[in-house]
Amino acid sequence: MDYAAAIRERLPATWRGDDFGQLVAVLESYLPKEDLEGIFNAYELSAKAHEGQQRLSGQAYISHPIAVAKILAELHLDVSTIKAALLHDVLEDTSCTLEDIQKNFGEDVAVLVDGVSKLDKLHFHSAAEAQAESFRKMLLAMVRDLRVILVKLADRMHNMRTIDALSAEKRRRIAKETLEIYAPIANRLGIYSLKVELEDLGFKAFMPFRYRVIEHALSKASGSQRQFLRKIEAKLKKNIRDHQINGRLVTREKHLYSIYSKMRRKHIHLSEIVDVFGIRIVVPDIDTCYRVLGLVHQIYKPMPGRFKDYISIPRVNGYQSLHTTLFGPKGMPLEVQIRTEEMDQVAERGIAAPWKYKAVEKHTYSAEARARDWLQGLMEMQQTGNSEEFLEAVKVDLFPDKVYMFTPKGDILRLPRGATAVDFAYAVHTDVGNRCVAAKIDRRPVPLKTTLSNGDTVEIITARSAKPNPSWVNFVTTAKALNAIRGFLKGLKKDEARELGKRLLSQSLRPYSLNLRRLRKTQTSSLLKELGGLDIGELYEQLGLGKRLAPVIAGMLAQQVDNEGDVATELRPLDIAGTEGLLISYAGCCHPIPGDDIVGFMSTGRGVVIHRSNCHHVAEYRKHPAKWIPVDWRRGVKGEFQSEIQVKTLNRVGLLAEVAGRISATLSNIDHVNVETDDDESTLLFRLNVRDRRHLAHVIRSIRTNPGVVRVNRATG
Ligand code: MN
Repeated sequence: MDYAAAIRERLPATWRGDDFGQLVAVLESYLPKEDLEGIFNAYELSAKAHEGQQRLSGQAYISHPIAVAKILAELHLDVSTIKAALLHDVLEDTSCTLEDIQKNFGEDVAVLVDGVSKLDKLHFHSAAEAQAESFRKMLLAMVRDLRVILVKLADRMHNMRTIDALSAEKRRRIAKETLEIYAPIANRLGIYSLKVELEDLGFKAFMPFRYRVIEHALSKASGSQRQFLRKIEAKLKKNIRDHQINGRLVTREKHLYSIYSKMRRKHIHLSEIVDVFGIRIVVPDIDTCYRVLGLVHQIYKPMPGRFKDYISIPRVNGYQSLHTTLFGPKGMPLEVQIRTEEMDQVAERGIAAPWKYKAVEKHTYSAEARARDWLQGLMEMQQTGNSEEFLEAVKVDLFPDKVYMFTPKGDILRLPRGATAVDFAYAVHTDVGNRCVAAKIDRRPVPLKTTLSNGDTVEIITARSAKPNPSWVNFVTTAKALNAIRGFLKGLKKDEARELGKRLLSQSLRPYSLNLRRLRKTQTSSLLKELGGLDIGELYEQLGLGKRLAPVIAGMLAQQVDNEGDVATELRPLDIAGTEGLLISYAGCCHPIPGDDIVGFMSTGRGVVIHRSNCHHVAEYRKHPAKWIPVDWRRGVKGEFQSEIQVKTLNRVGLLAEVAGRISATLSNIDHVNVETDDDESTLLFRLNVRDRRHLAHVIRSIRTNPGVVRVNRATG
């Protein structure tokens, strides 16, 4: 503190203030004293340059760069970054030049200040272009030097903290940009503290009403819960101490924006959010993490299906931790995170975490290395494309469940992954959806059911007299399209519906070489009986109204004809990769994967459900032979398929991590893990993604080589 006081003495009276003194206090906690002199010089130059300038709040301008530097000092960033933060606005608004900075503070600081200034200096013709261009510039800057982006994030953080001084319109725009661009980048770089505050400030400024409602409800509900939390904390602390484990406990509350996001994502009410409170246990090493996990599971019952091992399989931003949810007293759910000090550093600070933790343990793939790999990938994409393509590529990475498409005018539409041209048409406008007849992607005509990819430019061709086709119900994925099509179909007149249904059925019979007129009465009548005694007119009507799917009915008819055996139809084995617009789904009981013997079950609501031939459901369903159809995998079928394996192991600390590590080494993703433990054995159930039987066999073989593993099986349906 003496040093700070000494520095303050040297300040001209007009610059004196507590802000800089507080910054120095933080810096002193981790930097050697000799570094402070240079930082003071940067401050001096900046204060001189900004002298007489004010922020909109009326404060002296220098308060802003000091606050930005302090945010970065709290993350323990290096001297150059702190100097650059103090100087980050001088090139923009003052007579100070880059040469001045270079001369006084060297190349390193000059490059950083220049990088941050360039990010601010961009001008654009359209909003989409602005977003795309700034993304690209920002990321280019990041790859050259990640510290540029850290200064920019801290700059945005302070601007968000002081956003009340701005007009309502500006507040909204900046808050939206913060939620859409800056918070995701902070998250991607693993800097949790920045991400959380950016999100909460953005949420408050962008949706002030919703923010207040959640804040109020939370403070009302949580009083009694906090008391429980304290009891649980005390109990856990005592148990950990009794077992001679050296650990510290931190209680925490979920931040408001993450509660809001969860409510929106899962369509649930605030009262249904179970894990508002949590406890974090930080211990010295990885083995102790698993020991503590066992300990807390003995004290409180774990909630099934909620255990996640991010130690053996870290998140993409480098985050590592064990997560489990417990039933606390009175059934109050409580999320517990268990991790090492190093992991805690990475979790809080991400790439800003001290370098010395890099690769100290073999499981650690440092956040910094991950961020670099990610950026490297982006850079490779960036070589070829224009700004908008690049934006699209970046956003895919930040929001993996969404795809981004362009209208011919360059507007960006965001739809769920799997959306088709028809979904796109309805997203533009309900009238466009109702009247669409064709689509073009990047100027080439495509079928309306085509699944769109990131970066497609989609043009919808409409005709005034066109109407929605009921078969669209089979493939649209957005609620808006589905509701609009259903709404239209409901309004159809009865005879219109019948005519439409008849047309749809004859179309769907074509692949089986069947023709409605040539079918015999016995053949249709047994089908109609099976459908609950409809007459043929009613069946057409239901098809026309979209209540039944024509390809499914056609398949059943073809089977009927085949059973009678008097028409020489060759029943084509269904190409289950989804030809003919048939709805395909994979049975959750037996999880078929390519290479398995399979059969298809015609389910009225779900289209064709694929089972393994040896699934126990198959025997049961054989009672309705007409509903089973022979199917086979398309040759060269590609993709990821879910499978389940059961692993019996000895009870040994760290074994779960080892098994999970082997699985991920075979490039199989784990969706879910369930652990059951007896006295001497554990049963681990993994749900994972594999390409085919060979891949699965490889996974099983590599788990077997672990001496702690007793048995590995594929789970049976
Ligand atoms: Mn600034």
